[in-house]
Amino acid sequence: MAAHAGKYAEELIRNARQIATPGKGILAADESTTTIGKRFVNICVDNTEANRQAYRELLFTTREALPFLSGAILFEETLFQKTLSGKPFVEVLKEAGVYTGIKVDIGVVELPGTRGETATQGLDGLAERCQRYYAAGARFAKWRAVLKIGPEEPSEQAMQENAHGLARYAVICQENGLVPIVEPEVLADGNHDIKKCAAVTERVLATVYKALSDHKVLLEGTLLKPNMVTPGAGGPKATPEQIAGYTLQCLQRTVPVAVPGVMFLSGGQSEEEATVNLNAINAMNAVKPWVLSFSYGRALQHTALRIWGGRRENVPEAQRVFASICQANSNASMGNYQGCSNSPMGSSENLHIANYKY
Ligand code: 13P
Repeated sequence: MAAHAGKYAEELIRNARQIATPGKGILAADESTTTIGKRFVNICVDNTEANRQAYRELLFTTREALPFLSGAILFEETLFQKTLSGKPFVEVLKEAGVYTGIKVDIGVVELPGTRGETATQGLDGLAERCQRYYAAGARFAKWRAVLKIGPEEPSEQAMQENAHGLARYAVICQENGLVPIVEPEVLADGNHDIKKCAAVTERVLATVYKALSDHKVLLEGTLLKPNMVTPGAGGPKATPEQIAGYTLQCLQRTVPVAVPGVMFLSGGQSEEEATVNLNAINAMNAVKPWVLSFSYGRALQHTALRIWGGRRENVPEAQRVFASICQANSNASMGNYQGCSNSPMGSSENLHIANYKY
């Protein structure tokens, strides 16, 4: 069964490879208006369009951060915003060689008959939206599917539904010129150990790649955004080497070599943990046929957002810290992260939020 990506096949392959440039990663800045509002509440900033614009301008105009980024994922509102001086954000990013991505799912709904498991919405009208986003300069997309670990979860029903949703999303994106980031996030909620997370993540990824194959997705023109294999937020701790070992074993067993890049989500790890664990994954001597990098939201932005606090005079310091965190993760994506000797590294504050909605 041959993959089918229509007229965009070559472009998709090229762009996916570019986004998976060694040493670079993705900034996930696609928090929905509701989610960014929750972040702003913590720093006493009103959730207005002007404040959202100001914050995203801070991120995208951090000149020292952009060399470490190959992509930035935006929420729809942000895709059409400009800097205060009138330059579209998409242009700012493009000039720095950073691809613009767009979140195309519209969130999750509960699957009736399950214990709080969910399906991701957003397939209706997706082709038309992709065309509009492509015309606006987007070249890749994100769709977040969410699985949770429980005594009997994830259920077969939730795994099949989420794999199917990801596969349908991926082909629709490819038909319309957007590289789909396939994101099946196994949440860190729970008290389970790392072995449980490894077993579940392996089953989830195997199910997802079966669905992508069945739907004839061109794997060379996709990227994977998985969780790292970690213990549950309330479970027994694991070392970075254990996390790296289980994560790599899980990827080796399930992710085809045709996929150019695996860009991990941070999933509530602290900034420091997310960097140290990414470094351990890349430093490990193992078979790794993919670029293994970051597509972090919270773990890139947390400290910068706090420092900014909605105040213009804090922008330079927030940008300095944001750039140093991007650089640290770039180093980690090559297994060269040496700790925080001369740069202000990210905080070790736990960023886990139960039942996280993006
Ligand atoms: P976190 O890195 O904060 O988990 O977010 C990444 C993301 O894009 C989740 O969909």
